[in-house]
Amino acid sequence: MITVENLTKIYKSRKKSKCVALDNISFTLEDAGFVFIVGKSGSGKTTLLSLLGGLDDITSGEIFVDGATLSHLKQNDFVAYRNSKIGYVFQDFHLIDELTVSQNISLSLKLQGEDDAKKIENALESVDLKGYGSRYPKELSGGEKQRIAIARALVKNPSIILADEPTGNLDSKTTTQILSLLKNLSKDRLVVIVSHNLDDAREYADRIVELSYGKIINDLKRNPNFANSVKIENDTLVVPAHKTLDKNELALINSALQDENIKKFEQISDVFVPNDLSSKSCTPPPKKLAKKHISIKNALSLGGKFLKKDSIKLCVYAIITACLVAILGLCELIATFNPSKVIEKELLSSNVTSIALGKNKLVDQNITTNSSCIFDISDDEIQKFYDNGYNGNIYKLVNVALDYGTHSSICHTHAISAFSPTDAFYNGSRGTLVTTQEYMEKLFGEIEYVALADKIEDGGIYITDYTADAIMFYRPDIFPSYESTLGHHKSYNNNTYAYVNGIINTCYREKHEKIKEKLNNPDLTKEDLKEIANDKEYQEYYDDILMRLSVSYTTNPNFVDDLLALNAKTWCPIGNSYFEYNGKDYKIAQNLVENALTRTTLNLNDNEIVLGYKVYNNIFGTNYTESNLNLFEPHEATFKYSYYYDTNSENVVYSFTVKIVAIANHDKLYFSDNLFKQMLRYNTFTSGLYFDDISNVQCVLDTADECGFFANSVVTLSLSSVTKAVSVFSNFFYIILIGLCACAFVIVINYGLKLVKERRYEIGILKALGIRDIDLSLIFGLQILLLLTLTIVIYIIGSVAFVDVANDVLLTSIQEIAKENYILDVKILSLNAKHLATNSALVALIALLSFVLPLVKLKRLKPTNIIKAKE
Ligand code: ADP
Ligand code: MG
Repeated sequence: MITVENLTKIYKSRKKSKCVALDNISFTLEDAGFVFIVGKSGSGKTTLLSLLGGLDDITSGEIFVDGATLSHLKQNDFVAYRNSKIGYVFQDFHLIDELTVSQNISLSLKLQGEDDAKKIENALESVDLKGYGSRYPKELSGGEKQRIAIARALVKNPSIILADEPTGNLDSKTTTQILSLLKNLSKDRLVVIVSHNLDDAREYADRIVELSYGKIINDLKRNPNFANSVKIENDTLVVPAHKTLDKNELALINSALQDENIKKFEQISDVFVPNDLSSKSCTPPPKKLAKKHISIKNALSLGGKFLKKDSIKLCVYAIITACLVAILGLCELIATFNPSKVIEKELLSSNVTSIALGKNKLVDQNITTNSSCIFDISDDEIQKFYDNGYNGNIYKLVNVALDYGTHSSICHTHAISAFSPTDAFYNGSRGTLVTTQEYMEKLFGEIEYVALADKIEDGGIYITDYTADAIMFYRPDIFPSYESTLGHHKSYNNNTYAYVNGIINTCYREKHEKIKEKLNNPDLTKEDLKEIANDKEYQEYYDDILMRLSVSYTTNPNFVDDLLALNAKTWCPIGNSYFEYNGKDYKIAQNLVENALTRTTLNLNDNEIVLGYKVYNNIFGTNYTESNLNLFEPHEATFKYSYYYDTNSENVVYSFTVKIVAIANHDKLYFSDNLFKQMLRYNTFTSGLYFDDISNVQCVLDTADECGFFANSVVTLSLSSVTKAVSVFSNFFYIILIGLCACAFVIVINYGLKLVKERRYEIGILKALGIRDIDLSLIFGLQILLLLTLTIVIYIIGSVAFVDVANDVLLTSIQEIAKENYILDVKILSLNAKHLATNSALVALIALLSFVLPLVKLKRLKPTNIIKAKE
């Protein structure tokens, strides 16, 4: 039973003008019967019906349905009320265009969790539209649409049918058919229809409620005493008004007249009498509303139907968003670029066994990584790596190198020039690594010697077969065989330099066979070499030379002391040195530096030196000649020394007071034995470090940066120049990143908003039919889900395809910026699953928001508002 109490509905239009559509009306509707609501257009009939159907908000008053107030129903119960209790027929049909007639009707059933083809057939038959099931609404006439709308309401067999002018568009034959059907249905349920037609009302209604200007002006019920037939009671003929008499009735009247049984005549016109409002039956206790809902499968298939129309738009959106996210992802990679990580990855995937570092030098605030500048590395500096968490071993590379070539330095920029088509060897050696047997075995496997010296010295070194071959290649006159390179090693200037204990077999030829073959081709042009330089094999070969093959080895921890004790050198370079005398500096000219300090057999005291007179003149600007050497007066001076290798530096690393005791008839600088040994000691130092734990590269490189070291393997050096260049871009890309994020956000949000906005009408109808919000989300969420999936798939494929191109572009531009002629083929940007997943999740989140927000907004709106907003 429905009880309406003081119901008022006021529409507020935008201009703040009010329209009172229903004005404080009260009445009661029984559980069964055929109620007609009549009245002029605009009297509030549709409004009343939609309030009864729970399709709109009540301004004031109450509607009680089975004892429960509609306005106090919970969202769920409200949906259940519309869904399972009410069958609503709209004045404007409100069929869903994308669905066929059958599908429109079955939607109603599906919302009950049912899907019965037979029921749909029956419903179509009852509105006389059998066989119309596969048509679309736009293929139907107005009357046919109306009947489909009725069938949609009937098919779920609701306990209340509310129909707004259901026969407004029908011819008289179908009107009769529909009204008879509704009349029949009203025997065991409440049927309320809005109608203009008073004749129909009189014919079929059990009750007629007349509205005018939002008020009930008449509430009539069919007169219980009214019989639609001719009666003769006592002597009175009782005939209903407007009655067309049939044959039997005429015969009955005629015979009564003949028998003179009729004295009086009475016409009964009160087919309807005022409704007795006092006869309200008592309110039954509230019934639980049946909560039914559409199955997930049906919801998804419905979503699929809506999707069809939007599929192209969806694809376009997906592609645009995916591209944006892909670019966004790449920008993010650059913006959050971590050089050490790239280097670590590259190192771990290469054959590199260790990280080698040299020491940087600041020239005019810029760090130069010129390998011709080598510096002493102190134990304190080494300790810093351990303090920062390095876990592996650090081996010292001592600057004891065999001098056999034209003395050019090893630097990654020389990689191309290092090999000419005919030169198979790099022309320098790197120094001596003071290491362990274990590390050497890591480098060379089980150590095999190509040749060993007759006498093994503690201060001696082991060279590689590569180095031995190079020595023989460059100096075949002095070193014709492996054996000749053993023992006291004579460099090209004939000064004994080091002692070679043996030659290690490295199998380097087999290992780098292919690339050596390429390099040995005498027809190679410079262009060919450039191309070869990009060859991975070449890079590996070059790095192998730099890191392993052109290095000498010793496992003796006291190597430096033993080497000096071996007294191997008779010559010592003196670099940028000068004398300080009488408060003035006297530079030692370069040609003297070349000549350098020579060991003497003179018996000099500890701090005494003897200079050739020309040397002395050169330094101090005097004019001694051979004939007046005896005029020289011995004097003290301070000798200040910088590293020989530090060609640019004025940094004094060593300073001591000497006494120039004499000048002599030669071109040398003779230092006392003690001074000479000290100079040698200062000239033999740790110039590089080898780190055997590559997995610790990040700590190593971070500490190197902090302490002014540079990595000097091809891989690391090249990588750091690339990665440093990329790091410069990072900030710029952060800005792009934020911009793109915003774009992607706007696009996806826009799609969601548009989707919900464009589908308002359908959403409104579905809500009127009693769909749960969650099912609504499922139906339209399918589109978002598809958009998402498509976007993410395109994004991932796009990123994977694009990352190589991006890397190429980056490398080329960096190469130009860095003006490097040789840069390793580094994968600067590397995608990983985590990165892809995070970005995909980001898109998903945005999409979810874009779709949920407008739905939440719609959730608060009543169906009529949603439908009307579309119209
Ligand atoms: P009927 O169905 O009897 O023709 P309605 O119930 O549709 O009348 O309308 C009753 C009154 O309320 C009319 O004056 C109409 O203009 C007004 N009205 C109906 N719907 C709205 C609306 N959404 N906004 C403003 N006024 C409305
Ligand atoms: Mg109306």
